[in-house]
Amino acid sequence: MPLFSKLATGAVGAIHVYIVVLEMFLWDTPRGHKAFKLAPDFATKTKVLAANQGLYNGFLAAGLFWGLGHPVEEFAAQIRLFFLGCVGVAGVYGAATASRKIFSGSDFEAPDDDSPPERAGSKRRKVTATSTASASSRSVKFDSALSKSLFAQEAREATKEEACLPPLRQHSVLYHRPLLLDERVGSQGRKALLSWFDSVSQSRSMPWRKAWVDPQTISDPAELRKTLEIRAYEVWISEIMLQQTRVAVVIDYWSRWMAKWPTIHDLAAAKPEDVLSAWSGLGYYSRATRIHEAAKRVVGDPDMRGLLPSSARDLDAKIPGVGRYTAGAISCIVFGRAEPMVDGNVLRVLSRQLGIHGNIKTGKAVIDAIWAAADAMVKATSELDSPNGETSCEPNDRPGRWGQALMELGSTICTPNPDCSQCPITSTCRVYKEGELKASKPRETLKTIADIEDAACILCEPFDDSAGGSDDDSTQGKNRTNKAEVRQSKQATLAAFAFTRKPAKDAPSSSSPSATSGAPSKATMNIITSHARRFPVKVIKKAVREEETLVCAIRRSDGHYLIHRRPLKGLLAGLWEFPSQLLGPSTKPDTGKREQLATAYVSSLVNGGKERRKRKTKISCGGELGSVPWLFSHIKLTMHVFLFEVGEDAEVADDKEQPRRWVASGQVDAESMGTGMRKCWEMVQNAVKES
Ligand code: SF4
Repeated sequence: MPLFSKLATGAVGAIHVYIVVLEMFLWDTPRGHKAFKLAPDFATKTKVLAANQGLYNGFLAAGLFWGLGHPVEEFAAQIRLFFLGCVGVAGVYGAATASRKIFSGSDFEAPDDDSPPERAGSKRRKVTATSTASASSRSVKFDSALSKSLFAQEAREATKEEACLPPLRQHSVLYHRPLLLDERVGSQGRKALLSWFDSVSQSRSMPWRKAWVDPQTISDPAELRKTLEIRAYEVWISEIMLQQTRVAVVIDYWSRWMAKWPTIHDLAAAKPEDVLSAWSGLGYYSRATRIHEAAKRVVGDPDMRGLLPSSARDLDAKIPGVGRYTAGAISCIVFGRAEPMVDGNVLRVLSRQLGIHGNIKTGKAVIDAIWAAADAMVKATSELDSPNGETSCEPNDRPGRWGQALMELGSTICTPNPDCSQCPITSTCRVYKEGELKASKPRETLKTIADIEDAACILCEPFDDSAGGSDDDSTQGKNRTNKAEVRQSKQATLAAFAFTRKPAKDAPSSSSPSATSGAPSKATMNIITSHARRFPVKVIKKAVREEETLVCAIRRSDGHYLIHRRPLKGLLAGLWEFPSQLLGPSTKPDTGKREQLATAYVSSLVNGGKERRKRKTKISCGGELGSVPWLFSHIKLTMHVFLFEVGEDAEVADDKEQPRRWVASGQVDAESMGTGMRKCWEMVQNAVKES
């Protein structure tokens, strides 16, 4: 028994030493990621906590070895028993409760989660989970069984429900089987969208849009590797930048970035402040830092050696700042793999194509369903006919063209206010069909079905046709149902319900591409687009927080200005700025009070190293020059700008968290500052010129 006890103690002690090494030194390395199944981003954020945990495991290991080495066996046995008991209790507790969530602290920077951007918008906006149709109260699960029944190969030819009739839109969840997956109309639709994209991509050229690199056309492996390395790098940078702002702005930023760092190796060798400076004006500065870190990792990794992984899964798992969307984009555009790439525009397009009246911002089941649909569609598009008649999914240019085509459609035609008359895929669009049906039905028909209940779809929110008031441009507005009419209509019949499932002879068939081949009248098209605008569900935007800050440009008598660096986490992380002090949320000081506060703040800065000296540095305040309003995604910031003159004997206290330094006025422009701070600098320069 003592021998067994010693062997067990030795084994458990050795395991704990290994755990200590992993937790304290290897947590944020590929080995640590693999051992604990960690995502790199998560590992980076939790490495301090892991090191602490490792220390405690070290104490356990020390205790176990103490029990092994103690010369008095009776006492040694008790020590072994105690520490083995501790390990046992910790094991039981850990098995019952351990979860990565124990590391999730609210003090971490909000994850740069690669959440779907909308390219047409000027900035990425986040929204609340509350929607006009009470989406937050619904708890719907989109599981693999449902995914299979909607998007698997065998589901493509299953009977499809005809267009459902607004306002109640009675339908089952199978209604959302994508017509774009249909053998006939879907195949034609996919080809039509690809052709449309090929034509518009020439007229709307972008420097990162290039022909797909077909590996079969480059026989030299080294040359192929180099070509793919550059191509993947170009697409990666463009995709991250496109998540920040509009295409027109990105073209300029991307071109300058590529001229400065033509390869990922150049970027990896760049100085952090240069990277921030090149990103200046795009916002979400932590993204620039992540790109830089990722470049260093990709270049330094012995497996990657500068070439980004080709699979979306590896990209997502191994590259900091690359999430599901960017991973899909790189994988399909560069490497020709059939991976979905779903941004905010694609979510909107597919919610309309599938007829899902749901919340695409926070509705998990809806988002999962659309991603699954996008996955099935890109795979269907990627299939190539081989000479022997079988289909194969070898990498090719279609996945990239398909993904970009959907995004292009969403940013130019299927916008929040769509122009369905220009759409190349009306024949597969559920919402378009519904609009047509709505235009063809008399007012009475809409009323008689208004109170039917028990819709079986679990993805769609209730559709209140009277809400939203988006049909204003409809010339058939008099036919619309309003709330009062719906309440009065208590004559619902099963016949009416059946009518919604089986349209009248003259109603267009959803599976027929010819259904929309005849151009609808202007009035009909107005109804169609008005109906389409109702998709997806509108969500109420979270109110932005209002903040005020005092921006103090401190000018020394030799013409140098004091600047300091912002903390490395959070808003505008790592950027330089004129010393600034945030006012408390309840403080609403007037101009005089603001000047007092700013003067006290500046005094504390420039006399920071002289607490024991009687004579303080002379400070003169030029007053408040004006205010610069600046809007972030979640904050409306008002920057009150002050100009101070101080003597050459000004002495600034050191601050390790926020390094400070003096820069000549001619050098301020070269500093990595946010765009809002540059506006403040313009104001200061004008004031100095005038004085
Ligand atoms: S028909 Fe209209 S709603 Fe449907 S995908 Fe085209 S533009 Fe969008």
